[in-house]
Amino acid sequence: MYKVLIVTRTFGKYSNKPIEILKNNGFEIFRSDNIDSLKEFDALIVGTCKVTRDMLENSSIKIIAKHGVGVDNIDLKTATRLGIPVTITTGANSSSVAELAIAYIFALSRNLINVHKELFENRIWGNYSGIEISGKTLGIIGFGSIGKEVAKRAVCLGMKVLVYDPYVHKDQIKNFDVESVDFETVLKESDFVSLHVPLVDETRKMIGEKELSLMKSSAFLINTSRGGLVDEIALANALKSKKIAGAALDVFESEPLKDSPLFDCKNVIMTPHIGAHTFEAIYKMNMMAANSIVEFFKGQIPENIVNREVIEILRKSGFKE
Ligand code: NAD
Repeated sequence: MYKVLIVTRTFGKYSNKPIEILKNNGFEIFRSDNIDSLKEFDALIVGTCKVTRDMLENSSIKIIAKHGVGVDNIDLKTATRLGIPVTITTGANSSSVAELAIAYIFALSRNLINVHKELFENRIWGNYSGIEISGKTLGIIGFGSIGKEVAKRAVCLGMKVLVYDPYVHKDQIKNFDVESVDFETVLKESDFVSLHVPLVDETRKMIGEKELSLMKSSAFLINTSRGGLVDEIALANALKSKKIAGAALDVFESEPLKDSPLFDCKNVIMTPHIGAHTFEAIYKMNMMAANSIVEFFKGQIPENIVNREVIEILRKSGFKE
């Protein structure tokens, strides 16, 4: 009997089906909130918990199913060297994260959170004015599954959409009624800048003091991707000095967020990494992660392997497509 360790609280949260899939296919399930050791296990389903080189080198893990799409918490290099496939749940949470980004655009444009708090907590019937979204420019950095979903919604809201993604062909970007531009143009011309790139060496702190200074003083920054993309000290300074108008953040360099200068900023909205936390996204992520493990142990190459170098190794050892 294969042993699968599940290190994500939302696995099986809304339905028993993903757990039944594993049990009915002969897996013994173990659950934990963190990883002490991977020695005893054959498979791992993991959310945002770190999976290090040391853990992998001292394990009997044969496959890792990431419960989500960002693999910055997993030592991919070591997994690849050891021939361990790492699958992701491509597209399962794209609509949920995109909807959160759009919700932030609405909330920022009308200062909704502060206005609500003033009335609800302080009984202040204030005199507020915001801006319309229609006609404004949204800059999307990273035009993958989530970036595209954000773009589709923004176009429907009457926004002009600028996109920067050097890895997506310009013709493909144009098909979405959006404009492909360079990094500086997105920063300089957008009223809202929304980040949708993975956290890798190339993108780490891609938004710092210099990039913030290029943005309009009336512009807002939105980050539903990964905290490490933004220099949080530089962002807090830009927010306090009103170099930009505001920001909305779902993700932080260190989570859970405890001490941060961002807590001193009135013009920021912060949520505790809830982008993928909807019934629909969680269910889809559960099912995709469970199925990729079942397929693998039946001798099939699962879909959505991110370390593609491993696929050839699997083929050579008899795995079927
Ligand atoms: P994806 O792989 O489909 O798209 C990422 C896009 O970023 C790709 O098109 C790629 O070409 C582009 N890109 C890479 N490097 C770039 C760079 N330097 N400049 C511009 N573009 C670049 O991924 P996705 O499903 O759209 O998810 C994006 C990120 O969102 C994930 O990596 C993850 O970190 C984050 N995420 C967050 C939550 C949440 O709960 N808040 C949930 C899901 C995903």
